[in-house]
Amino acid sequence: MAEHLRTAREERKVGSVDELYRWLRTRAPQPRTVRPPSEMASDAPPALAYVNHGRWVADCPNRTCPQPSCPGYCNAAMDLLNGAPYLCGCCYNSDLGGRWRPVQWPTDADRQEIERALLARPSTATRHWRPEQPVRDLAEENARHLGKPAQEAE
Ligand SMILES: [Zn+2]
Ligand SMILES: [Zn+2]
Repeated sequence: MAEHLRTAREERKVGSVDELYRWLRTRAPQPRTVRPPSEMASDAPPALAYVNHGRWVADCPNRTCPQPSCPGYCNAAMDLLNGAPYLCGCCYNSDLGGRWRPVQWPTDADRQEIERALLARPSTATRHWRPEQPVRDLAEENARHLGKPAQEAE
């Protein structure tokens, strides 16, 4: 596989939605309450994919997390898996009755551009992107910091 930014496949050795489901169940305090990925809350506000230290992650948008460690806004970051919806490993999507939440990724073209720009950076510590940042900025940052042209020939 070509070089790419890391996902749950690399971070957690989780390669499919079913494996993600099983992994979440093994670490849940009450495994029986973890619902299968077929139970989707399709109209729920999505978790927004972003890049942090070279990993695709998303923060949990649940504002009513029941865990004592984060009363209220959950905000727990989860490693994303390509093609998989979102179930938070902290609140288990308590705000959606445990159903899975959609993930909002950038478009395929934007994602390719993001990955290309960030992978050009030698250190994972500098591989970051937030949805509010125009994708074009990443190449310009590279040009500024790495001395590479903003528009590289293919
Ligand atoms: Zn939480
Ligand atoms: Zn959560």
